[in-house]
Amino acid sequence: MALPELSLVVPVFNEEDNIQPLFSKIASAMEGLGRSWEVVFVDDGSRDQSLARLEALAGDDRRVVVVGLRRNYGQTAAMMAGFDHARASVIITLDADLQNDPADIGKLLDKLNEGYDVVSGWRKNRQDAFASRTLPSKIANSLISWATGVYLHDYGCTLKAYRRELTQHLRLYGEMHRFLPALLAQQGARVTEVPVNHHPRLHGTSKYGLGRTLKVLLDLMTVKFLGSYSTKPIYVFGGAGFISSFLGLSAASYMIYLKLVRGVSMILTPLPMLSAMLIILGVQFLGMGLLAELITRTYHESQQKRIYNVRRVVSQEVATG
Ligand code: UDP
Ligand code: MG
Repeated sequence: MALPELSLVVPVFNEEDNIQPLFSKIASAMEGLGRSWEVVFVDDGSRDQSLARLEALAGDDRRVVVVGLRRNYGQTAAMMAGFDHARASVIITLDADLQNDPADIGKLLDKLNEGYDVVSGWRKNRQDAFASRTLPSKIANSLISWATGVYLHDYGCTLKAYRRELTQHLRLYGEMHRFLPALLAQQGARVTEVPVNHHPRLHGTSKYGLGRTLKVLLDLMTVKFLGSYSTKPIYVFGGAGFISSFLGLSAASYMIYLKLVRGVSMILTPLPMLSAMLIILGVQFLGMGLLAELITRTYHESQQKRIYNVRRVVSQEVATG
């Protein structure tokens, strides 16, 4: 069977009433594009009728692939499973709850054709509660943009398009799927965004609340660290170690000066405590940096990871990409 030109990847967790309407919307949107397609639904351990309905759909339509996970692993894992089973050279992710509009897929593809590698949807008119969803998301987006240097209005929108070669060797953990544009940009991908529609949820309930914000912040620290220093962690820890040791040594010198020149007893000042703490902290930081260096080497070398990514090679002998 010929490979489809587009693969849609849809994570599904307890979305039984959304499946049929979503598939109809996808089918009619894709008809307008005139490209061959498949849709990979990943059932993320749903406890309702989602899986049964998806499997019925796959029985009726050859363009439907259903990947059923053994339990609920979370949206990131479900999307990874979808990437692993998608066959086309262009991959489009969207939510199962009809909040994303399949009719926007054409807009994403136009941007890919302009030469971008990742196109992210931007829910300009977001239809979610303001205080608990839209506002925290606005703050998170500015923070992520600032920290990663990849300026997007809406990291949280699942509707995104990717070139396949970028999704192939991904390893994501936690709730990292929202950081994909930033992670891929760190590997040299060209990233952009387009405004897309957003609809209120009609069936089922959202799987997330405010608690997600904290996870996003912690993930952001990981992304920032991995992006900037994963090949040279000693630059971070070593820097902190030097500063801390320097302050500790200065405090110690001042303490000795006070004792010898001014005759002030050492134990009358907080300096002994301060200098000991800062010096110990500094040595710890340096040690942590060296350990991190070891771990980084194991990480890169055990997976034969390169510290660079090649877009293509051109010569009369070889041509790739
Ligand atoms: N989802 C999933 N596994 C989970 C949680 C969510 O596959 O553990 C799916 C869910 O079915 C939906 C998408 O991820 O298709 C986004 O979830 P939701 O709509 O609840 O998030 P929101 O739009 O409220 O941010
Ligand atoms: Mg949703």
